[in-house]
Amino acid sequence: MLKQFFSYYKPHRRLFIIDFTSAVIVAILELAFPLAVQWLIDDLLVDGNWNLIVTISILLFAVYLLSTFLQYVVSYLGHKLGINIETDMREELFTHVQRQSFRFFDNTKTGHIMSRITNDLFDIGELAHHGPEDFFIAIMTFTGAFWIMFTINPTLALIALVMVPLLVALVTFCNIAMNKAWHQMYHNIADVNARVEDAVSGVRVVQSFTNEDFELNRFKGDNGRFRKAKIKAYKVMAGTHSSIYMMTRFLTLIVLIVGAWLSINGKLSYGELVSFVLYTNVLIKPIDKISALLELYPKGMAGFRRFREMLSKEPEIKDAPNAVSVDKLDGNIKFEKVDFSYDDQQQVLEDIDLQITPGETIAFVGPSGAGKTTICSLIPRFYDINSGAITIDGIDVRQMTKKSLRAQIGIVQQDVFLFTGTVRENIAYGNHQASEEDIIDAAQKAHLHDVITKLPDGYDTQIGERGLKLSGGQKQRLAIARTFLKNPPILILDEATSALDTETERIIQQSLDQLAENRTTLVIAHRLATIRDADRVVVVTNDGIAEEGSYQELLANNGVFARLHKIQYEQNQN
Ligand code: ADP
Ligand code: MG
Repeated sequence: MLKQFFSYYKPHRRLFIIDFTSAVIVAILELAFPLAVQWLIDDLLVDGNWNLIVTISILLFAVYLLSTFLQYVVSYLGHKLGINIETDMREELFTHVQRQSFRFFDNTKTGHIMSRITNDLFDIGELAHHGPEDFFIAIMTFTGAFWIMFTINPTLALIALVMVPLLVALVTFCNIAMNKAWHQMYHNIADVNARVEDAVSGVRVVQSFTNEDFELNRFKGDNGRFRKAKIKAYKVMAGTHSSIYMMTRFLTLIVLIVGAWLSINGKLSYGELVSFVLYTNVLIKPIDKISALLELYPKGMAGFRRFREMLSKEPEIKDAPNAVSVDKLDGNIKFEKVDFSYDDQQQVLEDIDLQITPGETIAFVGPSGAGKTTICSLIPRFYDINSGAITIDGIDVRQMTKKSLRAQIGIVQQDVFLFTGTVRENIAYGNHQASEEDIIDAAQKAHLHDVITKLPDGYDTQIGERGLKLSGGQKQRLAIARTFLKNPPILILDEATSALDTETERIIQQSLDQLAENRTTLVIAHRLATIRDADRVVVVTNDGIAEEGSYQELLANNGVFARLHKIQYEQNQN
């Protein structure tokens, strides 16, 4: 774990070296100070050499100035180093999360992911800065101070040293307790985040069921557990701090008493006694530093451990080592004996055989939950199949790079996700290289241009996270415009118009028909009227593909399709 942690310093080597060297010089100056005082008292004061004392003081002043400057460097550059490392880690995790497959997002709460990327890394920057530096400085000043104390008076130095094992034991004990406490706290704050995510994104449901109090209670539960964990962590921390404080003050007291006794008996000069007490403080400082580190280390490491945990989750769907980059596929899609399940519990697709010819428009109909969406999400390889093969133009989709494969497929779904930003940005999401004319052209084809130009800011109009200012039909048009811009040879329309009223659906259907021209198109439709012109209709039921043929053939067949048709037709009559 530590080795992994240190690997993040590599890109910031220079910063680290400057910071570290400055810190070492500061520590050396601090170590030398009591010696100067001792010399001042024992030699200069006794001799009454005022001029020399003034000269020395001026020199000391210069040294202080240097030390102040170096401390500024340590504080500024050190924190900069820490922040840089934190930023790198955050970016790495974001990249990693984006590479994850659909199944990961099916099974992970958004709030938990957000917590990992933001909160969990809060303390790592501080640790990255203070960790190695303070640890090294602490050991250096400690051994340095002890060594000097030993040369002044071995007996007194050894008395001071007796306290060290006690402190080490205390420090280790507290470290373990705090590690656990902080890990628990991060776990709990992630739960709080996940709860907020749920309640906020589902706020319309919450309010329509007037379940605010119910949600509040659930939130209180998570928030309370977080509170408990955090209080516990701080309790352990307070205990650690006060016991270390007590021990160090106790040490000063002992040194003072024993030192005074030695001094009375002529075994220690006044200067030595003063510098000894000063050195006891120098000796204690690293212990304070280590105790501060003790607070920081578990916090930072708890976050780092969770960070590594998430990084270690390999994306399920990755490019094969010899994957080919495809370009301009014809759209000859073939399913051969495809088996697929989302989990161990239920086989969703079994032994599916299907062939789609380039340019064909093929419609999938059938009861909800039969697996129509699933069939379509296997083509862009959002999930990998259990057995069998899916090929496009004779190449297995698992042998193509994900990027090139998905560039060939456009998907318009029932739910349109709009990003925070302008209308233009949202259309350009289909192709960031698109020119202004391309964007307008796509909007025109999607019959959206006239709507946009009527908006107060036109293409620069801001749309909210969920596009609250656009109607369902307008959102669909935006999704269609995006896909026009992307211009893929293969098109999947998954109930693109099912959420719209019949009238809006009819209008949008024209844009969709235009979009489908010259592309291999897979249409999943709820209302059968919309697929009358499909080249072929495939009826998917829970038992797999039940029937296939043209609309008219299937009607004549008097099977599942004819029955579905009859139900819808009768509904429309009422
Ligand atoms: P359709 O599009 O025909 O309505 P789906 O392909 O969405 O059906 O779903 C087929 C089956 O797979 C259903 O039983 C559904 O519960 C299940 N399913 C769909 N998506 C997931 C998922 N992400 N994780 C687990 N099971 C899923
Ligand atoms: Mg579906």
